[in-house]
Amino acid sequence: MRHKAHARTPAPGIALAAPRVSPFAPPEPPEPRSAHPRVLRAQAMGFCFGVRDALAIARAVPRPQDVTIHGQLVHNESITAELHRRGFASVDEADRDASPTSDAVLITAHGISNAQRRRLEAAGKTLIDTTCPLVRRAHDAATRLASGGPRNSGGRHVLVIGRRGHVEVLGLTGDLPSFDVVESPRDVRNYPHQRLGVVCQTTSADRDVELILAAIRAANPQADIAFVDTVCQPTRDRQEAIERLLDEVTVLVVVGGKASNNTRRLADRAAERGRPAHHIQGPADLDAAWFHPADVVGLTAGTSTPDDVIDAVELALNRLLESR
Ligand code: SF4
Repeated sequence: MRHKAHARTPAPGIALAAPRVSPFAPPEPPEPRSAHPRVLRAQAMGFCFGVRDALAIARAVPRPQDVTIHGQLVHNESITAELHRRGFASVDEADRDASPTSDAVLITAHGISNAQRRRLEAAGKTLIDTTCPLVRRAHDAATRLASGGPRNSGGRHVLVIGRRGHVEVLGLTGDLPSFDVVESPRDVRNYPHQRLGVVCQTTSADRDVELILAAIRAANPQADIAFVDTVCQPTRDRQEAIERLLDEVTVLVVVGGKASNNTRRLADRAAERGRPAHHIQGPADLDAAWFHPADVVGLTAGTSTPDDVIDAVELALNRLLESR
């Protein structure tokens, strides 16, 4: 049994000495551990408002059979299957340059370039635009840097921190006359330009952006560099939430589609912090062998994971842990 120390109030101006601990005192008993592993949810996870709004717009389309989704609305198999059941057609993200045969085209939250938008309109397509406003903000920032802005102070060569070939990055760079995509500090070089502009894919990790920006500055001391931070707040909230969660848990369960980049990154971040992580798509993927009695299990999900899937995983996880 532990004895509580009685609080003492020192006289003004007198500091209390630290209590002395006898080297012969018995060791403190360990903190009691719960009989079962516990589950802690990340404070921010799952759908961001951009994906949620895009999905709400799609679900409200009166005649889905006349509409082609321009890529994948959400990187989640169950949502994609639901949209196909409703009658939507879709083109692969890699085929977005081809013009769909339907009369209407639904632009996903990742957005498209203005050039591509004009091509679709010229082909007579009606556009249902669900581009996230924060993607649009990043797009506007990139084109402003490239054009020299309202004061026309001279265009910049634009560096986009992000993943090469990602649909959002393709949309961001599609209108830029001069750009490079930078995935890591290793990609950075000395660019033969006096004026550089830097923006980020909205879902970039803050720590990656900091490292890459420092590498750009170090490799280009001659350049006037303008940086516009276009990482979106929902991404930032999820990054902060996973760091706090990893402080408290011993193992992590990450819920999301296998093709979801941000879901994979959550699992990767756990590995970087030395926590085992299990990337699952739904409750059926859980395995009791992953957990030990003393574990504190963290639960998080990518931005394309619906709330009902997260809730179903939490329920199954609690049942599985309690039955052990
Ligand atoms: S991740 Fe950010 S930018 Fe992308 S859709 Fe969600 S809120 Fe918008």
